Amino acid sequence: MSCIFCKIANKEIPAEIVYENNGIIAFKDVEPVAPVHILVIPKLHIPSVNHLELKDKTLMGELIFAARKIAKEQNVDKSGYRLILNIGKDAGQTVDHLHLHLIGGRKLPWA
Ligand code: 5GP
Ligand code: ZN
Repeated sequence: MSCIFCKIANKEIPAEIVYENNGIIAFKDVEPVAPVHILVIPKLHIPSVNHLELKDKTLMGELIFAARKIAKEQNVDKSGYRLILNIGKDAGQTVDHLHLHLIGGRKLPWA
Protein backbone atom coordinates (compact mmCIF):
# COMPACT_ATOMS: atom_id res chain seq x y z
CA MET A 1 0.00 0.00 0.00
CA SER A 2 1.61 3.22 -1.16
CA CYS A 3 -0.87 5.52 0.60
CA ILE A 4 0.99 8.07 2.73
CA PHE A 5 -1.75 8.29 5.37
CA CYS A 6 -1.88 4.48 5.70
CA LYS A 7 1.87 4.64 6.30
CA ILE A 8 1.36 7.27 9.01
CA ALA A 9 -1.43 5.16 10.56
CA ASN A 10 0.90 2.12 10.53
CA LYS A 11 3.78 4.20 12.00
CA GLU A 12 5.88 3.46 8.93
CA ILE A 13 6.56 7.15 8.48
CA PRO A 14 6.66 9.71 11.28
CA ALA A 15 4.03 12.31 12.08
CA GLU A 16 3.25 14.46 15.10
CA ILE A 17 0.42 12.33 16.44
CA VAL A 18 -1.97 14.15 18.79
CA TYR A 19 -4.67 11.51 19.23
CA GLU A 20 -5.18 7.82 18.59
CA ASN A 21 -7.73 5.14 19.36
CA ASN A 22 -8.59 1.77 17.80
CA GLY A 23 -9.98 3.11 14.54
CA ILE A 24 -8.74 6.70 14.32
CA ILE A 25 -5.47 8.59 14.32
CA ALA A 26 -4.90 12.35 14.27
CA PHE A 27 -1.69 14.19 13.48
CA LYS A 28 -0.43 17.69 12.68
CA ASP A 29 -0.60 18.75 9.05
CA VAL A 30 2.91 19.07 7.62
CA GLU A 31 1.96 22.38 5.93
CA PRO A 32 -0.31 24.07 8.46
CA VAL A 33 -2.53 26.90 7.21
CA ALA A 34 -3.31 28.07 10.76
CA PRO A 35 -1.79 27.75 14.25
CA VAL A 36 -3.87 24.60 14.76
CA HIS A 37 -4.09 22.32 11.71
CA ILE A 38 -4.69 18.67 12.43
CA LEU A 39 -5.78 15.82 10.18
CA VAL A 40 -8.15 13.29 11.72
CA ILE A 41 -8.28 10.06 9.73
CA PRO A 42 -9.74 6.58 9.93
CA LYS A 43 -6.97 3.97 10.12
CA LEU A 44 -8.88 2.04 7.49
CA HIS A 45 -8.10 3.09 3.92
CA ILE A 46 -11.21 4.84 2.58
CA PRO A 47 -10.31 7.08 -0.40
CA SER A 48 -12.99 9.74 0.17
CA VAL A 49 -16.54 10.46 1.29
CA ASN A 50 -17.61 9.16 -2.12
CA HIS A 51 -16.37 5.73 -1.08
CA LEU A 52 -18.17 5.53 2.26
CA GLU A 53 -20.53 2.64 2.82
CA LEU A 54 -23.45 2.47 5.26
CA LYS A 55 -21.32 0.43 7.66
CA ASP A 56 -18.97 3.45 7.99
CA LYS A 57 -21.68 5.62 9.58
CA THR A 58 -20.44 5.05 13.12
CA LEU A 59 -16.82 5.63 12.12
CA MET A 60 -17.70 9.01 10.59
CA GLY A 61 -19.48 10.02 13.78
CA GLU A 62 -16.43 8.97 15.79
CA LEU A 63 -14.22 11.08 13.53
CA ILE A 64 -16.22 14.19 14.43
CA PHE A 65 -16.25 13.38 18.15
CA ALA A 66 -12.48 12.82 18.05
CA ALA A 67 -12.04 16.17 16.27
CA ARG A 68 -14.16 17.90 18.91
CA LYS A 69 -12.07 16.38 21.71
CA ILE A 70 -8.83 17.46 19.99
CA ALA A 71 -10.22 20.97 19.44
CA LYS A 72 -10.77 21.22 23.20
CA GLU A 73 -7.29 19.88 23.96
CA GLN A 74 -5.80 22.38 21.51
CA ASN A 75 -7.76 25.17 23.18
CA VAL A 76 -9.74 26.26 20.15
CA ASP A 77 -13.14 24.92 21.23
CA LYS A 78 -14.21 28.34 22.54
CA SER A 79 -12.46 30.54 19.98
CA GLY A 80 -13.78 28.40 17.13
CA TYR A 81 -12.50 26.05 14.51
CA ARG A 82 -13.39 24.59 11.15
CA LEU A 83 -13.81 20.94 10.15
CA ILE A 84 -13.29 20.33 6.45
CA LEU A 85 -13.59 17.32 4.19
CA ASN A 86 -12.22 17.86 0.70
CA ILE A 87 -13.69 15.47 -1.84
CA GLY A 88 -12.15 15.16 -5.28
CA LYS A 89 -10.24 17.36 -7.66
CA ASP A 90 -12.25 20.59 -7.59
CA ALA A 91 -12.19 20.59 -3.79
CA GLY A 92 -8.41 20.23 -3.84
CA GLN A 93 -8.18 16.73 -2.37
CA THR A 94 -4.54 15.76 -2.80
CA VAL A 95 -4.35 12.66 -0.57
CA ASP A 96 -6.77 9.87 -1.45
CA HIS A 97 -7.31 8.68 2.11
CA LEU A 98 -10.29 10.29 3.81
CA HIS A 99 -9.19 13.01 6.25
CA LEU A 100 -10.97 15.60 8.31
CA HIS A 101 -9.07 18.89 8.57
CA LEU A 102 -9.34 20.56 11.98
CA ILE A 103 -8.26 24.16 11.54
CA GLY A 104 -8.27 26.94 14.11
CA GLY A 105 -6.26 29.39 16.19
CA ARG A 106 -6.90 32.36 13.93
CA LYS A 107 -9.87 34.08 12.30
CA LEU A 108 -10.81 32.05 9.22
CA PRO A 109 -12.45 34.08 6.47
CA TRP A 110 -14.67 32.12 4.15
CA ALA A 111 -12.98 31.22 0.79
P1 5GP B 1 -6.21 17.64 1.04
O1 5GP B 1 -5.73 18.75 0.17
O2 5GP B 1 -6.09 16.29 0.38
O3 5GP B 1 -7.57 17.88 1.63
O4 5GP B 1 -5.23 17.64 2.29
C1 5GP B 1 -4.09 16.90 2.39
C2 5GP B 1 -3.28 17.49 3.51
O5 5GP B 1 -2.29 16.55 3.88
C3 5GP B 1 -2.54 18.78 3.13
O6 5GP B 1 -2.95 19.81 3.99
C4 5GP B 1 -1.06 18.41 3.30
O7 5GP B 1 -0.31 19.46 3.85
C5 5GP B 1 -1.12 17.22 4.23
N1 5GP B 1 -0.04 16.26 4.04
C6 5GP B 1 0.37 15.71 2.85
N2 5GP B 1 1.36 14.84 3.06
C7 5GP B 1 1.57 14.81 4.40
C8 5GP B 1 2.49 14.08 5.22
O8 5GP B 1 3.31 13.28 4.77
N3 5GP B 1 2.45 14.31 6.57
C9 5GP B 1 1.55 15.19 7.12
N4 5GP B 1 1.58 15.35 8.45
N5 5GP B 1 0.67 15.89 6.36
C10 5GP B 1 0.68 15.70 5.03
ZN1 ZN C 1 -4.65 5.04 2.97
